[in-house]
Amino acid sequence: MAAFGSKTDLDRTRDYRERVIILGSGWAGYTLCQQLDHKKYQVVIVSPRSYFVFTPLLASTSVGTLEFRTALEPIRNRRNKASFIQGWADNVDLYNKTVTIEEAVVDPNQGLALTGSRHEGKDQSQLQTENASKSKSGQLFDLRYDKLIIGVGCYNQTFGVPGVIQHANFLKDVGDARKIRKRLLECFETAALPTTPDNVRRQILHFAVVGGGPTGIEFSAELHDLIHEDMARIYPGLIKFTKITVFDVSPNVLSQFDSKLAKFASDHFARSGIDIRTSRRIQSLSPGLPDVDPHLQSARLGLTLQVKGEPDEGIGMCIWSTGLMMNPFIQQALSEIRRFPPNEVIFKSKVEDAQKVDWHIMQDPKTGSIVTNDRLRVLITPDGPHGAMKAHLRDVFAIGDCSVIENKQYPATAQVASQKAIWLARRLNRQDLHTTRFAFNNMGIMAYIGNWRAIVDGAKGVGNVSGRTAWVLWRGAYLAKSISWRNRILIPMYWFLNWAFGRDISRF
Ligand SMILES: Cc1cc2nc3c(=O)[nH]c(=O)nc-3n(C[C@H](O)[C@H](O)[C@H](O)COP(=O)(O)OP(=O)(O)OC[C@H]3O[C@@H](n4cnc5c(N)ncnc54)[C@H](O)[C@@H]3O)c2cc1C
Repeated sequence: MAAFGSKTDLDRTRDYRERVIILGSGWAGYTLCQQLDHKKYQVVIVSPRSYFVFTPLLASTSVGTLEFRTALEPIRNRRNKASFIQGWADNVDLYNKTVTIEEAVVDPNQGLALTGSRHEGKDQSQLQTENASKSKSGQLFDLRYDKLIIGVGCYNQTFGVPGVIQHANFLKDVGDARKIRKRLLECFETAALPTTPDNVRRQILHFAVVGGGPTGIEFSAELHDLIHEDMARIYPGLIKFTKITVFDVSPNVLSQFDSKLAKFASDHFARSGIDIRTSRRIQSLSPGLPDVDPHLQSARLGLTLQVKGEPDEGIGMCIWSTGLMMNPFIQQALSEIRRFPPNEVIFKSKVEDAQKVDWHIMQDPKTGSIVTNDRLRVLITPDGPHGAMKAHLRDVFAIGDCSVIENKQYPATAQVASQKAIWLARRLNRQDLHTTRFAFNNMGIMAYIGNWRAIVDGAKGVGNVSGRTAWVLWRGAYLAKSISWRNRILIPMYWFLNWAFGRDISRF
């Protein structure tokens, strides 16, 4: 990993190479950085987090099946030749080819899922004053790029349900997994206090999962394993009070999977005692348990979940996993009308004078994602009556969850993000972008459903599989996909240690 003290150092070490700035260190950005030829490009990653998260393992880390370290890859390491700036991309000047970066070294929300703009509640003049003072102190600065890759991912969607941002737990980053593990153990310890009455124990050991997609289902399955394999031995008297409920607004869970596999998973959950409540709308999440003496409330930190048409539910923790919301950076920094340098724009249809037309980045009307062509170049379109025209930016690409390819419907998954990143890196390394187009190669989807069972849908050469065979495939796939040898060694070690000696449930 190249370190640098000033922008001049970065310029000095650049030599003859083009500078590629990658925004984001997730599946898209990190994979691309690993694959780019550093002899050809000076690669600079800009991200508020200094590590990559292997998201499929987050649920396992949140219940202690794996240690947090196993789901992380530090960006700064001995082998990585890229430069890294720990900061937020705040703005992009497409005309002058610069990115405005705000440092994020001591960001208090580091490691936690993002749910709303960090500029929320500030008007334009407040932002300008703040930015002026940050520029003076060096917290806000510009960096020039030759090529820009936008891979900033998405935020968590809360649909504005009151109390969710404040009181729910999310599962998108390692800080979230840590918070969940801590809270789980708090619930058990609180329930174990001799002064806690049974009606409070029943509520505080009720864990609600909102969202029946793969993340919500895998978390419920991991939690079920923790409760029945470890907590049952450590807190035998409390197991009768535990309960896991999955809520979903749609009539079925795991709708991405083949219906037979989804049914297999639902039946397996029913046998395991996990309650799946579909067609349920959550109205609010508030602090305090319903129908509990106020003297007991203050010390026991439970929550009340209000479900439309049903009595209030007292719960110990709510895991919120209802999908994605577009990263506000896309709206704030990229959707404004800007001047585009003519040599950056390749027109699909003739325009007399590009400078006289106002352009904006194309965004998907449903999701707000950046629209790219099938060479992953960002598409732009003029405002007003010229709206049917289109062009693309030669040196600006968007990959991962924050982007979609025009007229294609690929899912927002790590699989798509990493395939796009690998494809783009190869094209840039060989400088043959014009010769080929990106096409997604679906390797199938899988989900762990608990008790050493999984479901696998459409895996190449395997088809649809459920049960223990699927579980072996699931574990094998994640082990094979782990990035570093350090984690490839650590992961099976923790799987073995926790199987042999139980999960480590220390709370710190
Ligand atoms: C718990 C969980 C389990 C999952 N399991 C699977 C699975 O099994 N299989 C699968 O295919 N997919 C899975 N996914 C989905 C997968 O993780 C996402 O599709 C993938 O992370 C998208 O990659 P990305 O790089 O686009 O975004 P992310 O991985 O979210 O990375 C975005 C990066 O951008 C950074 N960033 C944000 N704003 C800015 C900014 N303004 N400036 C600079 N950087 C910024 C973030 O800090 C982050 O580093 C799972 C997701 C979760 C949450």
